[in-house]
Amino acid sequence: MSWKFFVSHSLPLFFLFFFYSFPLISTQHNDDPTFKTMHDFSGYPVDESSHTFTPSNSISLSVDIQALQKQIDELSTFSDTPAPSVTRILYTENDVLARRYVKNLMGLAGLSVTEDVVGNIFGRWDGYEPELTAVATGSHIDAIPYSGKYDGVVGVLGAIEAINALKRSGFKPKRSLEIILFTSEEPTRFGIGCLGSRLLAGSEALAEALKTTVDGQNISFFEAARSAGYSRDEDDLSSVFLKNDSYSAFVELHIEQAPILEEEGISIGVVTNIAAPASIKVDFEGNGGHAGGVLMPDRLILPIVTIFFL
Ligand SMILES: [Zn+2]
Repeated sequence: MSWKFFVSHSLPLFFLFFFYSFPLISTQHNDDPTFKTMHDFSGYPVDESSHTFTPSNSISLSVDIQALQKQIDELSTFSDTPAPSVTRILYTENDVLARRYVKNLMGLAGLSVTEDVVGNIFGRWDGYEPELTAVATGSHIDAIPYSGKYDGVVGVLGAIEAINALKRSGFKPKRSLEIILFTSEEPTRFGIGCLGSRLLAGSEALAEALKTTVDGQNISFFEAARSAGYSRDEDDLSSVFLKNDSYSAFVELHIEQAPILEEEGISIGVVTNIAAPASIKVDFEGNGGHAGGVLMPDRLILPIVTIFFL
């Protein structure tokens, strides 16, 4: 229920606030040692105070909430499981159709649409100083089995509507604004989460690992990617890596996947810490045995090590 409120009221406003207030956010100072300015992140001075723009400058913004909700509902129909659930696995037919749907919306919004070889999709609105690094936002549209229709989707479709609202208002951005649809945030098919964004971040290890990665049906990553119209060359993943300073700022809007905001009656929250799950694979050498019948003294492994890992 809170998700609905979140989507219908807060989502476009959040993006609009972000796009409008970027110059203000980027130049403020704070005594908190964990606080970083955009200067700290980007490594170059950010001073755009002369172009600071706020909604009070009297441009009126109109967010088409009905259209946005309709798009979220339509996108949810590209699913391998019946409504209200959504199941959309990387590089499947429904994933391809959903990508086409989003690219079409980006085109209708007047964005220039590009894709890289793993299917990260970029919709760009050129600023009036296009040589400046862009401000970006985005999320994912792949969906784990039987998930909901808002997960990830709000960060993509909401961003498109935010840009539509800005365009309708007559606003022209100084920096280019870019929406990114990240490939495979979910690990469902290949067991690798945030696949597209990790490659964008320049993960050589992932690019190498993908050469031998297969799914549960023994279909290789590259075979699956090719079936969706992407990578044809197993060696070309380095083309996905972003150059330094590709973006001056990035924000992701995502539904809350916990009950806190709903319980507190708060429509939106700002993340200050985030979980960073990790997994490791460990091989134990020794003689195994029946889990119940073979006692520890008869197993040729170090019980203490086993207990630590279990
Ligand atoms: Zn998500």
